[in-house]
Amino acid sequence: MDKNTLPPKKKLVADWQTLTRTFIRPENDAAKSTLIKYMEQILFGLHDFLKKHVGFTEEVSLLDLSTRFTDTLISENPEKKLTDVITDLVEDIAPHAVNVASPYFVGHMTSAIPFFMVHLKSIVTALNQNVVKVETSKVVSVVEKQVLAKIHRLIYQESEAFYHEHIQNIRTALGCFTENGTFANLTALWVARNVLFAPKKGFDGVEKEGIQAAYRAYGIERCVVLISRRGHYSLNKAGGLLGIGNQNIVAIDVDENNRIDLDCLHKTIRKIKNGRTKTAILAIVGIAGTTETGSVDPLPKLAEICAENRIHFHVDAAWGGPTLMSEKYAHLLAGIELADSVSVDGHKQFYMPMTCGMVYFKDPTIMDAIIYHTHYVNRPGSVDLGIKSLSGSREANSLILDSALKIMGSRGYALLIDHGIETAQKFAEEIEKRSNFQLITPPELNILTYRLYPSHIKQEISEQSVGQKTRINEKLNEINRTIQRLQREAGKSFVSRTTLKTKNPPEQDIVVLRCVMMNPMTNIKILGEILDEQEEIYQRMLIQG
Ligand SMILES: *Cc1c(COP(=O)(O)O)cnc(C)c1O
Repeated sequence: MDKNTLPPKKKLVADWQTLTRTFIRPENDAAKSTLIKYMEQILFGLHDFLKKHVGFTEEVSLLDLSTRFTDTLISENPEKKLTDVITDLVEDIAPHAVNVASPYFVGHMTSAIPFFMVHLKSIVTALNQNVVKVETSKVVSVVEKQVLAKIHRLIYQESEAFYHEHIQNIRTALGCFTENGTFANLTALWVARNVLFAPKKGFDGVEKEGIQAAYRAYGIERCVVLISRRGHYSLNKAGGLLGIGNQNIVAIDVDENNRIDLDCLHKTIRKIKNGRTKTAILAIVGIAGTTETGSVDPLPKLAEICAENRIHFHVDAAWGGPTLMSEKYAHLLAGIELADSVSVDGHKQFYMPMTCGMVYFKDPTIMDAIIYHTHYVNRPGSVDLGIKSLSGSREANSLILDSALKIMGSRGYALLIDHGIETAQKFAEEIEKRSNFQLITPPELNILTYRLYPSHIKQEISEQSVGQKTRINEKLNEINRTIQRLQREAGKSFVSRTTLKTKNPPEQDIVVLRCVMMNPMTNIKILGEILDEQEEIYQRMLIQG
């Protein structure tokens, strides 16, 4: 039917009766069918969308899109009915969002999720519990303590007796849920800071008196966190927020495997100890799966250094943590059980919907360092999870994780982890077979980097001087930047890019393409097509000069 022949739409007005009908009322049977009707519209609509859009995004520039979203006025009366809003979201927004579920979308740590996550998330939304306090969550608070114990056990493998004592203990905490990995890292360092600058005679503790008073009380002038150059920038944010200054999140060089260089670490510690500025080391951070290359730091060695020097040992396993569920590859994270604290993301390799982070502590009393009480909730001695948590109100993510663990089993997750690691290994072999590519960082977990490196340039380079090599790398950087951009703009496949430093002279920044293998539908055939497309883009660039 032509738009013009449609009967004129009834003008929508905001009235009390319609409004009250939009609230969830379990006592009303009609509300049930309404709920189902719209759920169907959403789920079928999105399903059809994902079926149609096998690529990952439509070819419309963000600049174009931005010109369509320039309203600053909130409409006085309702503009649209729910059904029309859903249609708009499915038809106008979804195609211009990113289809992160595409098996060709391998550039980031955000990917396809099992469909049951949509259902679990809906339950969380429908129940609308607030886990800050037991008065708004009741059983969910104890479910959360249970799932925290499950993941704690996966990491630390303490005794039955230990978990029996702590799983539902209202005075202790094995960890907590956070918004994401950033908040998990922040929470870990917050706890470590408050333990280092604990109250003592004449000093009420850093949380109360602030960082300046803490330095005075402990006779220091500076406080640092040591982490490899591959550390996630969330730790720098934590440095800023915790008042120690983000320039004091000290980047230690990495070895040729992108792991923290232990010689450099030792040297830095010695320099700090012998330096003129009195400096405390707040924590050493080991990374179990770096964001850029998926490398795992030598955790047992780091644990040893921390124990010797009585330093808080934090492991950032935001990415790699779930690898512990794989019988085949858990050994890659050996030493994680020695950490004082561990960050893990739920929305990464637990395949949960956005967003969910977690942080775990070896010592179930250490979170006492961040206790907050108020008069109306979070009273001393209550189960209120908000007592020891950076967040106030927060959603019941534990329901999703606890249910997902039941649906998948650790074996189910292990299949995903193993598939990712083994697909990355096959992909690395494929890259090495192709003369126009160079593998830069082989996969330790399921992340690898490489670059397009045309064979004719490869043949020349061995005879070049350092100066010429530098110029060739600059040219390659330009080529790889362009290929990554053009491939993304074409909208079928997506790899990301980052910058790494070469180890051999000339020490310089090289632009690399980065792939993360987590979608179970991504296979070596698809990865081959991605490489083909990159070669084609390069050939076209040559022709066009
Ligand atoms: C993703 C990631 C983070 C940050 O997590 P967000 O959930 O994005 O805040 C921290 N560390 C590592 C190693 C990560 O991979």
